[in-house]
Amino acid sequence: MSRLFCYSAAMASIAENISTIREQITKCAVASGRSPDSVSLLAVSKTQSAERVREAFAAGQRDFGENYVQEALAKIAALPLPGICWHFIGPIQSNKTREIAGNFAWVHSVDRLKIAQRLDAQRPVSMAPLNVCIQVNLSAEETKSGTSLEEVEALCAQIGQLKNLRLRGLMAIPAPCADPVLQREVFRPLADLLNRLAPHYPHMDTLSIGMSDDFESAIAEGSTIVRIGSAIFGPRAQITSEPTPQQ
Ligand SMILES: *Cc1c(COP(=O)(O)O)cnc(C)c1O
Repeated sequence: MSRLFCYSAAMASIAENISTIREQITKCAVASGRSPDSVSLLAVSKTQSAERVREAFAAGQRDFGENYVQEALAKIAALPLPGICWHFIGPIQSNKTREIAGNFAWVHSVDRLKIAQRLDAQRPVSMAPLNVCIQVNLSAEETKSGTSLEEVEALCAQIGQLKNLRLRGLMAIPAPCADPVLQREVFRPLADLLNRLAPHYPHMDTLSIGMSDDFESAIAEGSTIVRIGSAIFGPRAQITSEPTPQQ
């Protein structure tokens, strides 16, 4: 039955889904004593066509998150819309940093100094500094990307020196978990760490946590950017690696 509900929800229009998510964000923020404006919605458009991104844009959505460089570049070129803002949120290979530095406003998934140094060196001088978050591995799983909680402070000190990057905060993708109490417990150390570090960095104001299945817990723990894919666009086909470009 839940599967049926899931598919029927996906048949609502993208505009309806965005409006529903925005209402839920507002409700969660208010319930946590926060201003609804303190949480922004990043629409995760990986695997979605440019046409579907355009539909979300027409519904007022401006921030979009992409995981695969080649797929993202094709969409960015196809959608030169005023005010659209692209965020890179996927794993970063060194040989992709130049394209990321030249085409995105934000990168949420910086997890090592070498990648930060390359993004800094390759950010075009004609563009504003690149907003970056450090991805933290909260689940201590070897297979997931992200730096450990213990290493974040040292990495921040190094990235904070890079002139073409603007260190904005921390990001995480915890292992899936259905229990809201446990979801909050996993997020909490990251929120605590951000609060401890933020006074030392002039632009650090971002906690990028919360996806379709845990954004309510993330907002309760202080999320300032929720990254929502399937609850806006419907279920995705499984993708396990960088797809080959279609054109
Ligand atoms: C796919 C993805 C999301 C969105 O996941 P949903 O569960 O579809 O909301 C968020 N963040 C990252 C880094 C992702 O790769």
